[in-house]
Amino acid sequence: MDLGIKGKRALVCASSKGLGRGCAEALAEAGVDLVLNARGAEALEATAANIAKTYGVSVTAIAGDITDEAARAEVIEAAGTIDILVTNAGGPPPGLWSDWSRDDFIKALDANMLTPIALMKHYMPQMIARGWGRVVNITSQSVKAPIPQLGLSNAARAGLTGYVAGTARQVAAQGVIVNNLLPGIHATDRAVALDEGVAAREGINLEEARTRRFATIPVGRYGTAQEFGATCAFLCSQHVGFMVGQNVLLDGGQNPITM
Ligand code: NAP
Repeated sequence: MDLGIKGKRALVCASSKGLGRGCAEALAEAGVDLVLNARGAEALEATAANIAKTYGVSVTAIAGDITDEAARAEVIEAAGTIDILVTNAGGPPPGLWSDWSRDDFIKALDANMLTPIALMKHYMPQMIARGWGRVVNITSQSVKAPIPQLGLSNAARAGLTGYVAGTARQVAAQGVIVNNLLPGIHATDRAVALDEGVAAREGINLEEARTRRFATIPVGRYGTAQEFGATCAFLCSQHVGFMVGQNVLLDGGQNPITM
């Protein structure tokens, strides 16, 4: 299928590795020029060079913490005009409901709610002015089925989801389509970190922790960044003009829910 976005320009946040990189690669394959971002410059530059060489698109790498206001301003300044925005950042740490201070909540809200909102508020006016734009926010399956030990993530992502639900419907008539993409468990560094947490808590090895989690997923494995990226690219395509404010769950069937 031709996604119809060749020659568009996308900012993909937090994209040197994992799901963000999967989205960047799928957009590049569709002919989209990229602005990539992550905190670590070395991995980011390597990813940018690899994608540019593989897909023949223009790739600009801008290192910086996207959740930090000053660094975000630098990314925005260097990125210039874009047609497609993919928001993403690292997830908050797990814990018990009683673990977190006000500062921990503020940090999680900054990273996983207020940063994507700030980026949408910056970029959507220029998309509206041109009559075309696509926004995909990478959130989590925890939006549909909150995960007890991820209270910070549950809270912050619920806030973003509520904001998007209204906003997507306010900008759709002007050609800007906003949706959220909800990862279930995917084989990235984040999944390894969560498995290591389970292994440490339960006194088992990493392989056993992974095998137990595979058993909770009907497809019997973790998702891949490639599969995730392909869905993201579709959500950024010409074909999603009638799909507004949705929370698209990619979880291998793990959550038995109908909505
Ligand atoms: P990952 O493999 O750890 O990759 C994270 C990427 O984001 C890296 O490129 C990292 O590079 C960059 N990054 C992290 N924090 C950043 C920041 N503040 N500013 C700029 N770049 C940043 O993580 P992932 O698995 O792709 O997860 C992406 C998001 O999906 C997270 O919010 C995660 O909680 C959520 N999620 C993941 C899963 C899963 O199973 N993988 C499931 C549900 C939800 P630097 O470290 O160099 O900045």
